[in-house]
Amino acid sequence: MITASPTARLSPAAADWRELWRDAITNAAELLQAAGLGHRADLLPVDDAGFALRVPRGFVARMRQGDPADPLLLQVLPRAAEHDQVEGFTTDAVGDLPAKAGQGVLHKYSGRALLVASGSCAINCRYCFRRHFPYGDEIAAAGQWRKALDHVRQDPTITELILSGGDPLSLATAKLEELTQGLQEIPHVVRLRIHTRLPVVLPERVDRALMDWMAQLPLQKVVVLHANHANEFDASVDEACARLREAGATLLNQAVLLRGVNDNADALAALSERMFAAGVLPYYLHQLDRVRGAAHFEVDDSRALALVEELRQRLPGYLVPKLVREVAGEASKTPL
Ligand SMILES: *Cc1c(COP(=O)(O)O)cnc(C)c1O
Ligand code: SF4
Repeated sequence: MITASPTARLSPAAADWRELWRDAITNAAELLQAAGLGHRADLLPVDDAGFALRVPRGFVARMRQGDPADPLLLQVLPRAAEHDQVEGFTTDAVGDLPAKAGQGVLHKYSGRALLVASGSCAINCRYCFRRHFPYGDEIAAAGQWRKALDHVRQDPTITELILSGGDPLSLATAKLEELTQGLQEIPHVVRLRIHTRLPVVLPERVDRALMDWMAQLPLQKVVVLHANHANEFDASVDEACARLREAGATLLNQAVLLRGVNDNADALAALSERMFAAGVLPYYLHQLDRVRGAAHFEVDDSRALALVEELRQRLPGYLVPKLVREVAGEASKTPL
């Protein structure tokens, strides 16, 4: 049997990712229309609670038509509950957001330095801490990288650089090249890790130029995707994952446990199975960061633990994610 290689599947006529990025839906009425819910005026949000609606059309196409409880729709449609003031839910839930937005590099965990490479995202996820930090593209510009790289260069204990954000793959590939050129000259850095949701929400981002950049990097490469539900995967995401693997990346996924989206064992098991079919292993299942406006997504700890216990009984060990939460000041993610 002849099977097309992932490269062969990269059609030269594929739409440019930047155009698709700009073409995202930013209007609630249009989103509801596209999701087959145009008749449901009751679902129209009064406002966006200060965090703009934004979702690429390809992601919308994976929503179930006519289902107001669709797990993809719920991640992006503003809801009145975002105005709820709930105790413990703040605008700086992770505790280091000023640092993230300011100096660009975070070195909290041993061996790993995290660079906030870009504040931009192709999609606005309603549960994200980023909703309170509209940091722009300037993070990666203006010599920030040089300072970050200086920090990494001066500390031989750092063996892994993590590009995070926002979404680091929102940067032009030429920018990424510029960054990693400096990185390659630092002998103690052996691994580059990229935390990104783009291969899932805008798989066209994994284009030839990105693959070429990755493939030639003399570093171990890890890409940590972010998908919360099996339905976020389709053939285009499978292909993006195949291209990333072809470029030498190990693929992992982190999900956030979200009420109404994936807070049942069937959904979580299906997510693990579906991502594995795309060559992706589960890494973390995060308890929600307690950000203001996201309280309606929270799942309590006892239920979270019960869900993971059920997964452990149903799935091979390698398909069970680690349930963690981010606690400000801790030296690692905190297991539940
Ligand atoms: C989450 C995080 C990391 C990565 O942690 P891992 O457990 O290695 O995935 C590194 N640095 C910071 C500041 C983080 O928040
Ligand atoms: S940082 Fe991640 S979770 Fe937050 S809006 Fe961007 S893609 Fe969504």
